[in-house]
Amino acid sequence: MSASTIESVADTQRVRLLRPSWAELDYGAIAANLAVAREQVGQATKIYFVCKGDGFGFGAAKVARLAAQAGVDGFCVGSPEEGVAIRNAGIDREILLFAATLPEDAAQVAALGLTVTIQSHESLRAFIDAGVAVDAFIEIDPGFGRFGFLPSQWQTAFEALRDQSTVRLKGVYTHLSSPESDDVTRRQAGVFDAALADARAAGFDNVTAMLASSRVMLAHPHLAYQAVDPGRFLYGALDADWMARASLRPMLRAVRGRIIHVQEHPAGSVLGIGYAEPIRLERGVRIGVVPIGFWDGLNHVPPLGRALVHGQAARILGRRSFQHTVIDITEIAQARTGSVVTLLGQDGDQSITIDEMAETLRLPVMELIPRLVRSLPHVGVKATDLPGNNRCACRPPN
Ligand SMILES: *Cc1c(COP(=O)(O)O)cnc(C)c1O
Repeated sequence: MSASTIESVADTQRVRLLRPSWAELDYGAIAANLAVAREQVGQATKIYFVCKGDGFGFGAAKVARLAAQAGVDGFCVGSPEEGVAIRNAGIDREILLFAATLPEDAAQVAALGLTVTIQSHESLRAFIDAGVAVDAFIEIDPGFGRFGFLPSQWQTAFEALRDQSTVRLKGVYTHLSSPESDDVTRRQAGVFDAALADARAAGFDNVTAMLASSRVMLAHPHLAYQAVDPGRFLYGALDADWMARASLRPMLRAVRGRIIHVQEHPAGSVLGIGYAEPIRLERGVRIGVVPIGFWDGLNHVPPLGRALVHGQAARILGRRSFQHTVIDITEIAQARTGSVVTLLGQDGDQSITIDEMAETLRLPVMELIPRLVRSLPHVGVKATDLPGNNRCACRPPN
């Protein structure tokens, strides 16, 4: 995305930021992470960028545009709508639709100009009978127990594909259950290799074989085949122990809001802060209200963790509301209406990492990031403003 596009994104958000809460994104992260992936797999292996979940919540068309500019070979999507959104953004690279649709809708799906997944004899029959020419990948179940042809099934599928001309077989892919285990990965990759051998024996010599999602790429780089299909790798959205395996840049850099309201309560006040049973305060408190709530992907019920204000930690009080979070700013004298509150990211010398937040909220990083970015307004931050360059990105965007 060009600098002017980023500015116009920020521009369109300015009205929305009249409610001052936002997610800060490093729009250069996808290109940087794609370069790391390219370095690893080389030029001969294709990289299909997984844009399911509306591009992990960042916006499928937006991330696809960034990845296309950075030279990605194709995309994988989790719904026909995501594929159409990427096409409508003017991107004509291959888009593989993961299994997502009913057999009875095969004709309509085949007409979208996407590469479809055939994950069973039922879906194979439906696409053949639909009579609409379509490119397809066959999915193999390596022992995952979800989608794909089992060892007893794929031979007849390859034969059926050979004997017709509606469905053009372009590739064979699978998805592994346990990249953290060498033993399971070796066994499941062995199942995939057997399917590939049978595909080639059936005459499909040039099929693209694809198996490696992000953690497979990081832990088993030799399993790159002709294509890889990373998602989290390119968003920089893995847990810390996986992020540490490569030099990846997180796309989500911060989640912040500004205090829109301050209240002071003397000792002795009786308050039910955050839907709690009202209690009598033993000491005076000053609270700040930030317009970010569980609607914005955070949780309602504690533990809610902490926030940073003027480089100092502030407790989050009670339960989080639909649209608001209440923090204790009693000890932070400078805090006032307009002060920036950091829920994720760097503020001065302090920072709240995505791993701290995920642990506090008891959510995996891959679940937390899409929750946060799919509803909050996005603001682009320049790499030069990011921590690591000793600059704090905690100024309000305006
Ligand atoms: C989600 C998914 C991926 C990408 O997974 P990451 O861990 O984000 O890389 C790849 N392939 C399939 C089939 C998937 O469902």
